Amino acid sequence: MSHPDYKNIGGLKDKLIEETGEVFMALGKAGRFGYFNYHPDRPETNNIMELYKEVDDLLAVCTDLHWFLYPLNRDVESGKITEEEAIQKLNEAGL
Ligand SMILES: [Mg+2]
Repeated sequence: MSHPDYKNIGGLKDKLIEETGEVFMALGKAGRFGYFNYHPDRPETNNIMELYKEVDDLLAVCTDLHWFLYPLNRDVESGKITEEEAIQKLNEAGL
């Protein structure tokens, strides 16, 4: 997901699921094979940096989600938009 070409593919929920899964996968690889081991196809990096990269991707999605949810709730609570409009925006974001 970190490649900019993929930034606009999929909704927030799908991105959160994908990136969470990638963090778990990187944790599993590091736990099984060692944090400073590396995949034979990617000798230029190691498992700790693979985990770091996936955590970075997850943080980016969490930041997007955070800045989507907070203003949406604020707008409902202030009466700027209705709950139905907020639900529509949630649906449009894939949530
Ligand atoms: Mg990723």
